[in-house]
Amino acid sequence: MAGTGSRLKARAAGRLVLAGPLMTAWLFGAGQSVAGKAVTVNGPVPAGELGVTLAHEHLLSDFRLPDERPETWAASGRKQPRTPEKVRLYNQPVAMSILGPLAMGEENRDNWLLDDEKTAVAELLEFKSFGGRTLVDLTTDGLKRDPQALRRISEATGIHIVMGAGWYRRAWVGAGIDKLSAADLAKVLVREIQVGAGRTGIRAGIIGELSPEDPDSDYDRKILQAAARAARATGAPISLSIPLGRAEPRAILGSLDVLESAGAALDRVAVGHADQIALDMPLMRRLLERGVYLQFDRLGDPPHVLTLVSDHDVALAVIALLEAGFGGRVLLSQGVNSKIDLKAFGGSGYAFLLEQYAPYARAIKPKGITTDQMRMILTENPRRLLAFAEPRED
Ligand SMILES: [Zn+2]
Repeated sequence: MAGTGSRLKARAAGRLVLAGPLMTAWLFGAGQSVAGKAVTVNGPVPAGELGVTLAHEHLLSDFRLPDERPETWAASGRKQPRTPEKVRLYNQPVAMSILGPLAMGEENRDNWLLDDEKTAVAELLEFKSFGGRTLVDLTTDGLKRDPQALRRISEATGIHIVMGAGWYRRAWVGAGIDKLSAADLAKVLVREIQVGAGRTGIRAGIIGELSPEDPDSDYDRKILQAAARAARATGAPISLSIPLGRAEPRAILGSLDVLESAGAALDRVAVGHADQIALDMPLMRRLLERGVYLQFDRLGDPPHVLTLVSDHDVALAVIALLEAGFGGRVLLSQGVNSKIDLKAFGGSGYAFLLEQYAPYARAIKPKGITTDQMRMILTENPRRLLAFAEPRED
């Protein structure tokens, strides 16, 4: 007991110094080694506690185009509505009457905004009711990431939330970034991972989602180099997404080259939106042989006439990868990022993997994904990715 009083005094003294956000960071364990732990919005937890984990989702995010200039549309990879009917559809709030065309892939501005905390809580509780425990929210700063809301959602649901950090595609990031070097950006990431985002004291637990289109461009190269440096310095994992509709092998492999030459360990990297390449076994193998995780994170979208790779194709790819010995490098998720992905708007929600996809994939003949294999993919693989490595400073 003798030490208790002095410890309390030391704590009281600490409080004087650690005011405000620093105090919060201190309370949530900033600065301590987190190797072997995952960093959630409520602080580090032993990675063994994560359980069934969704590796790439968005609870609150704003993927609306920042402006309507033709260059922004072109950079976004989306199809700008041209006819009066399509423009009208684009500008309407999401409602039952337009769910049909939206499910067919028509553009709608409001669809790209997830801003309702209550809905996020309700839908996340469904994931929990099917046995889910952890969700990785890869919303970055330019997409209206809200650390405090994520913490409230985690507290309301009892689900661990791992928050992302970094910079998405150029169109969603302010011009200020052009003045910053890779080293400057790495410092921002290290601070978000070790101390917290802004003044919140809420720490990021993964770098991403990054969505490099062209690793030879100044922007993408700088973001990737910053990510690699921060990953080395903190032990954090990195999550990339292959831009939708632009699965260029040269760009994907080139992005890994940039990460590797800037010091990232590729076995700490997830390559997301891999659904697009699920029919290309040689490319999947080339990526896996670099050591990365392949993350199929577009599951649950209803198929339509323009669907190139279905959820069934992804299941067959996963079965083939399991047989080829790559089962330990596969991640699955749904990538909820728009209103129509939510059950509230007719979508399949955060529970789709557990509620529908796992039973479906198990039933595939002659050989489905077994319960044990699915447990490995949904539990052990994300746990290994999210557990921080020892920092590697030069
Ligand atoms: Zn995403």
